Amino acid sequence: MPANVKHATHLLKPLRLLLLGAPGSGKGTQTSRLLKQIPQLTSISSGDILRQEIKSESTLGREAATYIAQGKLLPDDLITRLITFRLSALGWLKPSATWLLDGFPRTTAQASALDELLKQHDASLNLVVELDVPECTILERIENRFVHVSSGRVYNLQYNPPKIPGLDDITGEPLTKRLDDTAEVFKKRLEEYNKTNEPLKEYYKNSGIFSTVSGETSDIIFPKLLDLITSKFGQ
Ligand code: ATP
Ligand code: MG
Repeated sequence: MPANVKHATHLLKPLRLLLLGAPGSGKGTQTSRLLKQIPQLTSISSGDILRQEIKSESTLGREAATYIAQGKLLPDDLITRLITFRLSALGWLKPSATWLLDGFPRTTAQASALDELLKQHDASLNLVVELDVPECTILERIENRFVHVSSGRVYNLQYNPPKIPGLDDITGEPLTKRLDDTAEVFKKRLEEYNKTNEPLKEYYKNSGIFSTVSGETSDIIFPKLLDLITSKFGQ
């Protein structure tokens, strides 16, 4: 257990969590913190998977890069096939599974395709949390953001700098800037998000598993998120 986690949280019931939130709202950061805090939890991030595909120059990676570089979403069935294949390969389609999704589903079409599949395996999502962070805070964060592509670890030069400038804390490998973290592409990503997010929220509100956690920083959001999870699933 990492030294900064004093008391690990043990869940009593399987948790299948989806994190929603604008680009830069800290889904990746909250995910890493939850993984440290809750030993039973595992996660996948659609964005991280796509960046790894791009890095390895696969056919899918090449196709994904054309969308990502423009701040556009991938077609629903492409991303749905990719992620549902992973869920199945990871053995996550079972009632006892505990996991977290970051970045998928992003549209109501993706949400209903996923629901359909999960229902068949008696492993439906049971919590959807939106991270609500003011837009001005987000824009500032993006400029200072660096990532370690192979692990998905995210650093912020201001709030969460690497121990050695430019290098990942764990592997010592170089950090990079995301190709879609430029001011211009980021604006497009926010627009795309604002278009798809309302209907998606409505979709999950109707299923009764939707909550929002608000705050300006990841340090403010994390304890609220953890409390919410523990109150429903925890010790
Ligand atoms: P952040 O990582 O800052 O939270 P984000 O949510 O915009 O921002 P990612 O989730 O990393 O970024 O996704 C990056 C890009 O990958 C998106 O802009 C989109 O092109 C593509 N992508 C990721 N997930 C999906 C999805 N579920 N549907 C369609 N496209 C996706
Ligand atoms: Mg992300």
